[in-house]
Amino acid sequence: MPAFDYHAHELYCEDVPLAKIAADVGTPVYVYSRGEIERAYRAFDAALEGIPHEICYAVKANSTLGVLGVLVQLGAGADIVSAGELYRWLRAGGVASSVVFSGVGKTEGEMKIALDAGIGCFNIESAEELAVLDRVAQSVGKRARISIRVNPDVDPETHPYISTGLKQNKFGVAMAEARGLFREAAGRPGLHVVGVDCHIGSQLTKTSPFSDAIARLVELVQGLGKDGIKITHVDIGGGLGIDYGKGDTVPSPAEYGQAVRAGLAPLSSLGIKLVTEPGRVIVGGAGALITRVLYRKNNEAKHFTIVDAAMNDLMRPALYNSYHPIRPVERPDREVCPTDVVGPICETGDFFARDRALPTLDAGELLCIGAAGAYGAAMSSNYNSRPRAAEVLVDGASFTVIRARESYEHLLAGERLA
Ligand SMILES: *Cc1c(COP(=O)(O)O)cnc(C)c1O
Repeated sequence: MPAFDYHAHELYCEDVPLAKIAADVGTPVYVYSRGEIERAYRAFDAALEGIPHEICYAVKANSTLGVLGVLVQLGAGADIVSAGELYRWLRAGGVASSVVFSGVGKTEGEMKIALDAGIGCFNIESAEELAVLDRVAQSVGKRARISIRVNPDVDPETHPYISTGLKQNKFGVAMAEARGLFREAAGRPGLHVVGVDCHIGSQLTKTSPFSDAIARLVELVQGLGKDGIKITHVDIGGGLGIDYGKGDTVPSPAEYGQAVRAGLAPLSSLGIKLVTEPGRVIVGGAGALITRVLYRKNNEAKHFTIVDAAMNDLMRPALYNSYHPIRPVERPDREVCPTDVVGPICETGDFFARDRALPTLDAGELLCIGAAGAYGAAMSSNYNSRPRAAEVLVDGASFTVIRARESYEHLLAGERLA
């Protein structure tokens, strides 16, 4: 049964009416289904059965403590991109040894914190970063376990802002330089080479780019073997897409698993562990943003539905022109007409949908903006001095406020008059 579904014309998350959450907690509010996070995680895990593997959940997709707590209980590791995310992961009860640290701009301070915590692996993205980590590790008397992120130059055929594995992107090290850099790393006393890594992009809707990238990693591992560098894990990043309800076809985790299995087959005798860094596919479908209709209006060309959520709460439409399914919380089976669903912010980019067929909604009605569990709350801001929305985790018939709505005091925290 879908996590968000109608019961007698009323939209529920699991066994809780969304209208009840809105009444208790206010709007806008993010609502997550614990059951759906667990289902998605287990489906991904099951798809990789038979391959020794570790799932390092990409914390940046949704880093709310209460969500991380669910992932910790499922036995996930973490892919982090800052020391702040490491802090969150450890506070959620996660262990440091199953953390991989990605990102092109790790600071020396962040490296020290991660070394001190004893993280599993640094995913190195440049020759300069390699040299700095070597020096930092030696200065604190440690050897940093590393992989080098390569840029396999494959087109993930996704939105340009979330393509990361093309030659023109800032991520990783060119394939042609990779082998030399691995040899250099192997000779550095502060470093211990353990893995190869890539991440080619997000919201991928085909398996072929994964297969192409894996083929290049396999070739690299084999080449490194000839150089006497023993690789113990291959990290293929994240990126598996989800269905945003626009008729996208996305590979199922099982299809993804098949492609990964086939791609890694040449390495199967080497006892190499697979590391994956999924984010969106674990939490994306498990979350929705619930918002209330404030006003309706017509200008000469259009009908607008103005809601109390805005681009500061959910930035994806403004940033990527992305599509989110939108449903009324009550009485879905009314006659529809096209409307632009927009927020109160003074930007034309502040919209959730354009020309969307929705019932003619009354002021005060609730809307459910679906598939908002990933890159929703995590990307939210205080733009227009709007306090961040509350977040709620539903578990069966009960729910917990895992993040209180921000107050006006939060807005000014740390500020003062000169
Ligand atoms: C963003 C990111 C991920 C997660 O991507 P999804 O598309 O959410 O699965 C994994 N690894 C790295 C390095 C990333 O930057």
